[in-house]
Amino acid sequence: MFQTIKGKISMVYTGLIVVIVILGVASLYNLNEISKSIDGLITTNYNSIERLTAMDDAISHQNLLIVYYIHATGVDCTDEFNADKEIFLTHYFNEFDTIVYPQEMEYIVNIKKYYDEYVAMFDYLISLNTDEPTGFAQASLYYEKKIVPKTDQVRAEIARLFGSNETALFGRKADAGNLVKTSFSVLIVLFSAATFGGYFLAKTYTNNLFAPIYEITQTVKSIRHGNINRRMSIKTSDEVGQLADEFNNMLSRLSEFEKSTMGSLMEEKDKSVAILRSISEPLIILDANFNTQLLNQRYEELFGIDFAKAVGKPFTDTLTSADLVKKINEIDYKTAEYKEIIVETRIQKENKIFNVVFTPMTYSTTGQTAMIVIFHDITELKTLERMRSDFIATISHEFKTPLTSVLMGVDLMGNDLIGKLNDDQKEILETIREDSQRLTNLVNDLLELSRIESSAMIYNFVPCDINTIIKASAKQFIPLAQKNHVGFIIVPGMKMPRVRADFLKITWVMNNLLSNAVKYTKEGDSIAIRSWSVGSQVYVSVADTGMGIPKEFISRIFDKFVQVYGCDIEMRGTGVGLAAAKEIITAHGGDIWCESVLNEGSTFTFILNAAN
Ligand code: ADP
Repeated sequence: MFQTIKGKISMVYTGLIVVIVILGVASLYNLNEISKSIDGLITTNYNSIERLTAMDDAISHQNLLIVYYIHATGVDCTDEFNADKEIFLTHYFNEFDTIVYPQEMEYIVNIKKYYDEYVAMFDYLISLNTDEPTGFAQASLYYEKKIVPKTDQVRAEIARLFGSNETALFGRKADAGNLVKTSFSVLIVLFSAATFGGYFLAKTYTNNLFAPIYEITQTVKSIRHGNINRRMSIKTSDEVGQLADEFNNMLSRLSEFEKSTMGSLMEEKDKSVAILRSISEPLIILDANFNTQLLNQRYEELFGIDFAKAVGKPFTDTLTSADLVKKINEIDYKTAEYKEIIVETRIQKENKIFNVVFTPMTYSTTGQTAMIVIFHDITELKTLERMRSDFIATISHEFKTPLTSVLMGVDLMGNDLIGKLNDDQKEILETIREDSQRLTNLVNDLLELSRIESSAMIYNFVPCDINTIIKASAKQFIPLAQKNHVGFIIVPGMKMPRVRADFLKITWVMNNLLSNAVKYTKEGDSIAIRSWSVGSQVYVSVADTGMGIPKEFISRIFDKFVQVYGCDIEMRGTGVGLAAAKEIITAHGGDIWCESVLNEGSTFTFILNAAN
């Protein structure tokens, strides 16, 4: 029954009610005892004293009547005497009934005995004729000698009884006083016991009852602060104990769950870290304050730095070369934007060229920003590029010099400067001149393609305004178009995002498309350049109303050395321009294509990605 909180509270209440009942009963009992004692005091002794006083008064009055009878003449006081006798005896018998103590019995018996003798004396006196001098003298003497002493005897006995009653009265008064004192003490003890008992009971049970609740509150608070391993030590079997048990079970399951979730999260994190650390290119991850969060083994090797020591330190502290720090600071990488920089530096006694790429990122779970910095080592590529350009410079020199000589010779001969030629010879010379010129153009274009290919991996991507590129490129071709009486319009897109591009290479693509458009249009045609954006992509189209391209050539037009045959055009190219354009646009992560209808015109369109 006392296992439950309800039972415990009921017990406390029952205990308190029992104490109140005990106190009430004890108080009533004591009150009753005191009341009884006071009652006895009043009813027994006080009445007794009153009766004895009345008896004394009666006998005194009787004496007065006797004196009056002796001295007055012709008076009969018998009736009055008898009336007093009646009063005396009535009180006497009433008093007799209350007598308890033997001593008092003796007094009361004596009173009756002496009073009877007194009454008999009165009867004798009344028989004497007091109107006569003899009778008067006899009566006076009798009164003096007999009646007065008898009266004193009766009154002495009454006085004794009175005294006894008075003693009893004081005795009972003392008893009543003692009873009150005793009752007071008993009640004080009971009250004190009830007060202390009640306080102890209430305190014990309150503590027992609220201590577990306090513990639960503390535990819940501590769990709120993340201390999920705390448990409650409540061992009672009441509702609070059951609640604590259930709560502990819940906490155990919660920590198991957390362990498993944390476990898998840690595993995933370890995997990610392992992958990042094993990447073959030097890589570092910076937090939102651009301090080191993670770096891989290649980075450690490259800069001779230990990951554990670098963690939390500013990015530039991890770079051992002061020259490198200066160059990297120049691009203001703390703007948290995508950035690239090609830097040449000396690390570990070696000259190195890096394409340093800063890529901002946001953690999807926490929403925090970070920055990945990768050092692409392009030293070999640059070396190759240099070798290639050296080689091509040599080739170009070797090819161009004889070709120039051939063309100069042809010119000298064609102008009849070294002798007159006939028409047939001139025709052959013209063919040689055209072929030499074509060969010169081919060499030039090959040099250009080779230059683009060799530098294919080395792009300097920066955010660029495409309309600026379009305008700059168009400016070169407008005079030519006007000379050919070809219309030229530019329709730039509004509020265009900046594109991620290598400015010079995209300018080269635009130049190539416009040079083709001018090349393959004639008087009365028109050329239109348009730009627009869709989402994060920017579109540029170069459309002309020129000769167009036969359907079967459209799919191959971007292949190297492809030219449309059968075109009636004076100046032919080498077929490498569009191939190079495709290469450049693809390296930008974009696309290029052609739509054309023979004799109606062609439209070349390319897409670039917005910078962000
Ligand atoms: P090139 O123009 O030097 O020959 P390209 O690679 O630039 O080399 O062009 C390949 C071929 O595609 C050209 O020879 C030409 O036949 C065709 N072509 C390119 N642009 C146009 C155009 N705007 N209109 C018609 N034909 C074109």
